Amino acid sequence: MTNKNTKEIAVKCSGLKKTYGKGISAVQALRGIDLEVPAGQLMMIVGPSGSGKTTLISVIAGILDQSEGSCSVFEHDFKKMNIGQKTRFRGETIGFVFQAFNLIPTLTAAENTAIPLLIFGSKWNDAIGQAGEILKKIGFDDRMVNSFPQDLSGGQQQRVAIARAMVHNPRLIVCDEPTSALDHETGRTIMELLRNITLQHNRALIVVTHDSRIFEFADKIARMDDGRIIGLFNSVEEMNNKHNPDNK
Ligand code: ADP
Ligand code: MG
Repeated sequence: MTNKNTKEIAVKCSGLKKTYGKGISAVQALRGIDLEVPAGQLMMIVGPSGSGKTTLISVIAGILDQSEGSCSVFEHDFKKMNIGQKTRFRGETIGFVFQAFNLIPTLTAAENTAIPLLIFGSKWNDAIGQAGEILKKIGFDDRMVNSFPQDLSGGQQQRVAIARAMVHNPRLIVCDEPTSALDHETGRTIMELLRNITLQHNRALIVVTHDSRIFEFADKIARMDDGRIIGLFNSVEEMNNKHNPDNK
């Protein structure tokens, strides 16, 4: 039996709202989001700057609390967990690639990548070995594996951030602009790797991106504007057709 036909829901958001600040300076970043991502799918989120993409994935990943509505990951709702349960669930189940990479400057590429494994008790040598393996899959050599972030290019740092989000085999990977600092070839290699992981292991992947070169890797594309999802498409062609009023 394969998992292919199971309809397990990886992420479910209902009526999700998020307001930053209070009173006159309040910003409504999410104005009622309903979204479902089944396991085994790659969902891309596109839309103009300021439309709420980063806010949405931060709530989904449990980094930010919503103001209203509900959100669950593999049927677990962060609102129903205490801090300890939340930290553990998030650490084990979710990998997050931040737009700003968030690498620790005093740790090497392999050590940065190994963090999720070390936090949950892997032995140092095992964790570093596993981290090195995944970095090599995305084009690192021995020297790069042992380099500090400051000695790596932006694209290499981005690859470390992606490797760190995948190393502990989380069931949900959430990426904010994962290919922004990468050339076309490397961007594709990484998307292929992420996509294979998602499909083969019935995991789910949410990618926020402006990079139209990687749209083809999506199973679904959600277009956001002003805190809302204004369209859900099965392919980039469908999105482009719907977006062009002359072309129904
Ligand atoms: P995107 O990722 O699509 O560019 P964001 O989720 O970062 O959008 O932002 C959505 C809106 O919320 C924007 O108007 C932004 O200025 C505002 N915003 C984001 N983060 C904060 C914050 N920490 N405090 C106040 N406003 C914020
Ligand atoms: Mg953003």
